Amino acid sequence: MEYEKVIEQAFLAMGNAYAPYSNYHVGAAVETFDGRYFLGANIENASYGATVCGERSAIFNAYSNGVRKNDIKAIAIVSDGKRLGSPCGICRQVLSELLKGDTPIVLSNGKDSRITTIDEILPDSFSSEDLQ
Ligand SMILES: [Zn+2]
Repeated sequence: MEYEKVIEQAFLAMGNAYAPYSNYHVGAAVETFDGRYFLGANIENASYGATVCGERSAIFNAYSNGVRKNDIKAIAIVSDGKRLGSPCGICRQVLSELLKGDTPIVLSNGKDSRITTIDEILPDSFSSEDLQ
C-alpha cells in the first residue's frame, strides 16, 4: 500500500502518546516529498484544555523544522480507538491552514483505514482570506 510507511511511522509515534486521562492514544506522521517523517503524539495535561492532539504535534514538529505545505506528501493519523478516529474540530482548523486542500490524510486504527483530505472534512472553512 502506498501509505504503508507513513502509517507505520504514525504507529511508532503513538507509542510516545502521553494520555493518562483519556487513555486514548494517537500518533501522527507527516511525510515530506523528500522522504522525511515528522512525528507527533497526543500529549495530555491535568488542565485538560492544555492538551495537544497528535496530528497538531506532528504538523507543528514539521513546521518547526522548516517544512511547509508544499513539501508535504501525506499525513497519517492513527489511534487505538474502537472506531476509526478522525481529527477534532481544532485540528481540522489547523490542518486547513497548514496543509494543501488535497493533501492525503490517512486515518487508521490498525483495523480500518480511510484516506481523505482537509477539503473533504472541513468544507467552507474560515481562513486567512477572510482577514484581508
Ligand atoms: Zn485534535
